[in-house]
Amino acid sequence: MSDDRFDDDPLLSVRDLVAGYGLGNVLRGIDFDVGRGEVVTLIGRNGAGKTTTLESILGNVPEMTGEIHFNGVDISKQSNDKTIREGIAYVPEERRVFPGLTIRENLEVAQTPVDSADARDIDDAIDMFENLRENRGSLGSELSGGEQQMLAIARALVSGADLLMLDEPTEGLAPFIVRSVEETIERLNDEGLTILLVEQNVQVAMNVADHHYVLNEGEIVYEGTSEELSESQDILDEYFGVTS
Ligand code: ATP
Repeated sequence: MSDDRFDDDPLLSVRDLVAGYGLGNVLRGIDFDVGRGEVVTLIGRNGAGKTTTLESILGNVPEMTGEIHFNGVDISKQSNDKTIREGIAYVPEERRVFPGLTIRENLEVAQTPVDSADARDIDDAIDMFENLRENRGSLGSELSGGEQQMLAIARALVSGADLLMLDEPTEGLAPFIVRSVEETIERLNDEGLTILLVEQNVQVAMNVADHHYVLNEGEIVYEGTSEELSESQDILDEYFGVTS
């Protein structure tokens, strides 16, 4: 495995996570780590259990056992609100942008009291994204898919998080907008944010991340760096239908 990946304790550590919705287990005992400053992906097909993993970290899945440590604290029994206040920001797959509110209002309604001392305020969050900065009075309904994704990320970051969890941020976006989402991920990471990215698009995953976990039918079936994954043609063929 990858114990030499970290100088320090990982920011997020998941051990033997078993989770489901009452009709059998969706996750069947998964282990993974996200080190401070890393971009890590959970990749896999539809229904593999990627979203369930993120929702489990947030305490939103009804049946769950295992250990989840964030910043050294066991958060597995903790409420969603407390986990978010302690520094995990989440951008779900459906971006939940309010169409009738402006960019600024979309951020204002999302703002919650936070424990973090270095919480970015709303203007800082808007300023991080050029296309939001220039259109801050625009309504949610006037934004492109890419702009909505940026707004959803900005909204998650208003809470001053240490870890950003993104669920398929490039889904349904045109290729040049996918590139701009990739650049945003790279920039936020350069600025010190740790990122856990859920993706079906293995190319996006390899473009932006340091380390990958392949999830299939609720189990981690592969772990490796981008270089290792790009050389693992059997894994790419089997789980992503990518042929060289
Ligand atoms: P996708 O890309 O389709 O979102 P995923 O890898 O994120 O795939 P999950 O959304 O975690 O997969 O779904 C894993 C399994 O759990 C699927 O069989 C799905 O039907 C089931 N599931 C997900 N959410 C719920 C829910 N709220 N209630 C019941 N079953 C659910």
